[in-house]
Parts: sequence; C-alpha cells; structure tokens
Amino acid sequence: MDLWFENALLPTGWAGRVTVRIAEGRISQVLPGTDPAPGAERHRVAIPGLGNVHSHGFQRGMAGLSERRGRRDDDFWSWREIMYRFLDRLTPEDIAAITALAYAEMLETGYTRVGEFHYLHNDVNGARYADPAETAGAIVHAAGETGIGLTLLPVFYAHSDFGGQPPKPGQRRFLSDVDGFAKLVEASRAKLPADAVLGVAPHSLRAVTPEALAVVSALTAGPLHIHAAEQTREVEACLAWSGARPVEWLLDNLDIGRRWTLIHATHLTEAETDRLAASGAVAGLCPVTEANLGDGIFPAERYLAAGGTIATGTDSNIQIDAAYELRAIEYSQRLSLRRRAILSPEGASVGETLFHAALAGGGQALGVETGIAPGASADIVSLNMDHPGFAGASAGTLLDRWIFAGRAGAIDCVWRAGALQVVRGKHRASEGIANHYHKTLGRLLG
Ligand SMILES: [Zn+2]
Repeated sequence: MDLWFENALLPTGWAGRVTVRIAEGRISQVLPGTDPAPGAERHRVAIPGLGNVHSHGFQRGMAGLSERRGRRDDDFWSWREIMYRFLDRLTPEDIAAITALAYAEMLETGYTRVGEFHYLHNDVNGARYADPAETAGAIVHAAGETGIGLTLLPVFYAHSDFGGQPPKPGQRRFLSDVDGFAKLVEASRAKLPADAVLGVAPHSLRAVTPEALAVVSALTAGPLHIHAAEQTREVEACLAWSGARPVEWLLDNLDIGRRWTLIHATHLTEAETDRLAASGAVAGLCPVTEANLGDGIFPAERYLAAGGTIATGTDSNIQIDAAYELRAIEYSQRLSLRRRAILSPEGASVGETLFHAALAGGGQALGVETGIAPGASADIVSLNMDHPGFAGASAGTLLDRWIFAGRAGAIDCVWRAGALQVVRGKHRASEGIANHYHKTLGRLLG
C-alpha cells in the first residue's frame, strides 16, 4: 500500500511530495520528491505517531470525579483514596470498556502506541483470578478493539511503604508475591498480539523491596518502568528509609540505563538531574496528570540541556491529548521560570524540539522503532490542513501551531501498523466504544 503526502516529517526533517510504501504494517520505503503512484492515497501533511509511555487505562473512568475540595490539604494521597474506591468494583469487562475509550481517544489525538502500567490484577476480594492474566486480557482486548500498539507493563506491587510495610486493604487488587508475579507475566505474554512488547514495572520504591526489584526486573528482556519521586512526601520517606532520595537510590543501586523509564521523576536535585540525564534512561513526564494531582514541576530545562531523554504519558487519563502533554511541559517551565520559549535551542521551534524528543524517547521507553522511516511500524498521523489553526502555515511552523494553538479537530487521519483507525478526527469504532463506556459508567456510578 502507498500513502502520498504533500509534506511529511521525516527523521531528517520536513520533506515534500513523499511516498510512504507500507508492507505488512511496516514502512518499507520512504521516497521524498515523488509523484503519487496510481492508487496511492493522497493526504496533505504527515507526522509520525507518538508513544504514550504511561497509562492506567481504567482511571479514564474517574476523570472529573475528584475535583471537589475535601480536606484543606487535599493532595495526591486523598485523590488516591477516591481512586481506590472507584477501582474496588471494576470487573474485567468494565476495565476493557473504559480502557477502550481511553485508547480510542489516544489514537484520535496522535498517540499510536501505549505503555500500559497495569496493576489491577486481582478480583474484587483480592484473590487471583483463575487465569492470572485475566485483567491483562482486558487490556489486550481494548488494544485490539481500537488498534493501538501495546507495550504491556505488568506491575509488581507488594507493600504499602518503604521498608516492606504491609499492604493496605485498598491495595488488595494489586498484590503479588514474586512467584505469582512470574506466572502472571508468562500468562500475559501468551495473550499478546504479534507486535506487542512486554516489559515489567516494579510499581515504586514504596511498593517493592530491593530484593524483589532485582528478581522481577529480570523476568523479561523488555522495558523497565517505575514511578519515582512524584511526591515530596515520597522523597522524605525514602530519605528516612535509606538516606537517599528515590532517583538517587535508583541511580546508586541499579544499572539505570536505556532499558529504564522513570515515571514522573518530578523532584530532583541538580545532581540527580544531571546523573539521570547522563544515564540514558527516559524521564516519563505526565505533566497534565502532575498538574491535576499537584505533584510539582520537572526541571526540564536543566535536564534537556544535559542531554536527557524525555517522553510523555497520559497517566491518570484525566484529559487525553498528546499536544496538551507537550504544551504542558513547556508551560510549566514558563510559569515557574517566568520566561518564554524555554525548551528549544536558540532559534529553534519549541514544538518541533519537544515533538522530536518525545518521539525518540517514546520509542525507547516502549521498546519500538519510531518515525516515518523504513523498518518502523507504519504509525502515521495526518494533520487537518482545513483547520483554522493551520491557516497560512509553512511546514516549519506546523508543530508549534498544533501543540500551542491547535485545539480539537487538528488531526485528520491516523494509521496504526498501516491500518486506518481515525478518519476526520474520529476513531472508526468511536460510536460503539462510547456507547459501551456510557453504559459501563452509568452502572458503576449509578
Ligand atoms: Zn502512574
């Protein structure tokens, strides 16, 4: 199959009159400066699909349900109590229905692969399902229904706090022992489609002891993800436990390199920032969720200047939008530093700089090649050039316009592994998925 674009963003930059040849879901050839071949589908502007490196699919169902002020010191920890109550009742069918809506929305906004940080493993009573990968199957189902690429990251979770503290009742659906988790990972592997990637996610230094961390990290050769330094209380507790801060502890005690993605990594000293940047690991930033939860601001200017790798994630899925995540990284810096256009080299476009960084980091974090290039999955997004946000645009300003000024409707089509999943901004199955979601939420919240 051939797609032809007036302009396309290639690893070498913008190119005109580009034929993208696709075979078995992968890009086989990229030919700039060509006329459309007979039968080639013609479109205006192509950019590569982004990887969303951090999602908890089911949390889409509680978006907007925790925006009422409770205690005066309402924070992440009170939000977490609401989250625990919401997930208490979810069946595997509910998880599949809610996650499918989240994944359709991801595709509609330009994410073509998701890293699902999947921790809801047990039944409502905390017992293992007969099939230990029952809920992983719900995630696989949602990915299949929407067509999004899946990097499944089963989460190991065993404790409520540093030093192996016993788990709390609200955590019963997450818990595994090391042997049971190994079985869960293998049962999950058996359910995955051909182009899925399997990694492992030790939840956090709160939930996993160093001994277990070593064992579960060796269960696959795939990506390793961990929540780290999202909250100041977590940093203080880690210091009390070990004398080191969470990211410092990880860098001191593990071989943190390109296989690792540290999710959030919000609270860093300058030394931690420089060391994490030099490690080659990805900082998985989720700035929309981090703003919603009052987490804090990642030191992106210093980290990027030190050569650090970033990617974005929609995490709690409070509002799924790839452009919004990229914009929020830059805006958080502007608000705290009181300057403009902070995260690009002098004279360069902030939008393009952040897009290229998140594209490369997203691929690294999710274990796949990215970009419109031979060998990569044919994960391509076309922009809707009839949208007012693009009026009079030249190629060099397109990403800034999309990220900073695009609003809804800026995306036209999305192909995932060469299959057309989004047309005129709508997922091909969006109606059925939304109906199922309405019924599911109506019952859960009714
Ligand atoms: Zn998370």
